[in-house]
This record gives sequence, C-alpha cells and structure tokens, in this order.
Amino acid sequence: MISVVAPIYNEGPGVDRFVTRLTEVLEAAQIDFELVLVDDGSADDSWSRISRQSLLDRRVRGLRLSRNFGKEAALLAGLEHAGGDAVVVIDSDLQHPPSAIPAMVRRWQDGAQVVEAVKRNRTGQSLGNRLSAKLFNRTFTRLTRVDLVDATDFRLLARPAVDALARMPEHSSFFRGTSSWIGFTRATVEVEIDHREGGASRWTARGLARLAVNGLTSFTSAPLHMVTLAGFGFALFAAVLGVQTLVRWVSGGSVAGFTTVILLLLVTGTFVLIGLGVIGEYLARIHEEVRGRPRYLIRERSGAGAVVPEQPVAPERWVVEQRAER
Ligand code: UDP
Ligand code: MG
Repeated sequence: MISVVAPIYNEGPGVDRFVTRLTEVLEAAQIDFELVLVDDGSADDSWSRISRQSLLDRRVRGLRLSRNFGKEAALLAGLEHAGGDAVVVIDSDLQHPPSAIPAMVRRWQDGAQVVEAVKRNRTGQSLGNRLSAKLFNRTFTRLTRVDLVDATDFRLLARPAVDALARMPEHSSFFRGTSSWIGFTRATVEVEIDHREGGASRWTARGLARLAVNGLTSFTSAPLHMVTLAGFGFALFAAVLGVQTLVRWVSGGSVAGFTTVILLLLVTGTFVLIGLGVIGEYLARIHEEVRGRPRYLIRERSGAGAVVPEQPVAPERWVVEQRAER
C-alpha cells in the first residue's frame, strides 16, 4: 500500500478537486492507497472539506495542525502519520500531476527507494520568481552537493527513506534538501508542472526568503567561511592602501580624499553588517534548535487511522472513531 501526503493551506474547493483527481488516477492504475491530507491551519473551509472527504472515503484521512506552521511542517506531519510501504508527497493544488504517480510507483517496485519528479518546465511563475528560484537552486547545488536544479517537492519515498527522514530532529527542515541528503537508491521521472488550479501561490515573498535561508543554513556553513574570506580580502586591501599612502607621504605628495574616506567607511560598514547578519542567521538557527519545541501541533484528526504513532504533543479529538486494524 502507498500513502499519499498532501499539504493543504486555504485550498477551499481545490480540496475536493484534488481528492477526486487523485482517486481517479490511482484507482485506474489499481494502486492500493491511503490519502493523508494535512490542513496547515487553513482559515477557509478546507478542514470541513477534508473531514467530509474522509467520511465519504475510508482511504482518506485528515490531520489538522493547530495553526499555519508552513508547508515544511505540514509535510513532516503527513510523513510521520503515513502508514504505507511508500509515501508520495504531492502539492494539493494539482500543479504536481497525479498522473505521474503510477510511473513513480513502478520505479519504486523496480527497486528505487527515492523517486523524484523533476520538472521539464516551469509554468505559472512570474519571471522574477523564476529567476530567483534558478539563482537559489544553482547556488544551493554548488555550495552543498545536493542537486536542486529542476527539483520539486513531488517525491516518492520508500519506507526506509521515510523512517530516515522522520529520525532527523532538526526543527526547520528543508524537505527538498533532506530527502536528497539521506541518499538511498534514487530514480527520477520527468513531469510537466501544470498551472495552479484555484487562486494564487500560497507562498509569500517573505516565506520563500525564509525557506531559502533555512535551506542554506541547514545544509552548509559556506556563508560563514565567505565572511572570513572577505575579511582577509579587506585586510589585504587595507595593507596595500596603507603602503601606497605611506610611499606617497614619504615622497612628499599630499594625501587628500575626504570622499574616499567616506566610501571606505560605507564599504567596511556594509561588510561588517552583512557578516554579522550571516553569523546571526546561524545563531538564530541554533537558538531555534536548542529550544526544542515540537515542529507542529495537531488540533484534530478525521478519518479512520491506518497507523497512528504516539503523538504526545497536543490534545486530540477523533472525529471518526479510531480503527486499529493494521
Ligand atoms: N502550503 C501549505 N502551507 C503553507 C503554504 C502552502 O501547506 O503555508 C501548501 C499548499 O496548499 C500547496 C502546497 O503547499 O498544496 C504548495 O503551495 P503553493 O502552490 O502555494 O506553492 P508553489 O506551487 O507556488 O510553490
Ligand atoms: Mg503550487
């Protein structure tokens, strides 16, 4: 059996559309599945739609987080509550075509433990978004040896890979990175990314920037080394400038240049601030990890549970009576 995990944030009618489409595809391919829908603290009627779907179909389960924890946390909650022999992680806005799942499952049956969907195209994104995504992916790939170019969050993970991910304790996870970092036998399938059905992207520019910083800081300390390197660069520059000035002074030339002084002050000031900022980002991450708060809290669940791990973090209410058959 496979589990399909989908994060949902304010998708409204998109929830029903997604469940219908996914069920159609998987039934046609005769794949035995359960669907874990994680409501990431939606403010609209997403949760009532999820619980209705889980009443209509026993294969559908819902998890409701106590607030908006972000897509990464929602994915993690879904992974930790999925009981299948393999777990497919997919966006609920139908940008990731469910029709690719049967091919991914075949790769898994052929022995792959992590099957990534790589995109052939990028639709539904503005030029600015596309460029910044490209820049980030290139930088990340260069700095960390985890290949993010054309990577998506649309992945199939076999049970050993899921368990490996669930054991990683970091607070601000970066699924795209960690699911590559764990290794295992890998395979890819190419997919066409569709246009988003219903509304605009749920990511804000700030959210994306946060994700980028989290991703980088959790995978590489290269920015810290760059600060050090730049520091040496400045030291060298200062030495050269000092010698030159001294030579000019000895040979009787005047040392003028108020503007130069101001410029130098600005340049060094900027560098010091950026350097502090970079260090601060790492400090903030350490602080976050050290506090050790739970990565998400569950408010309620719906649907019959296939496998329900112990979750000591939140009071829970079962909407439908728990069924412990498996
Ligand atoms: N999502 C979520 N929590 C958030 C933001 C998004 O669970 O805080 C979900 C959203 O419902 C969708 C998926 O993550 O299923 C991808 O979001 P979106 O389509 O907005 O992102 P994009 O496709 O632009 O990367
Ligand atoms: Mg999307």
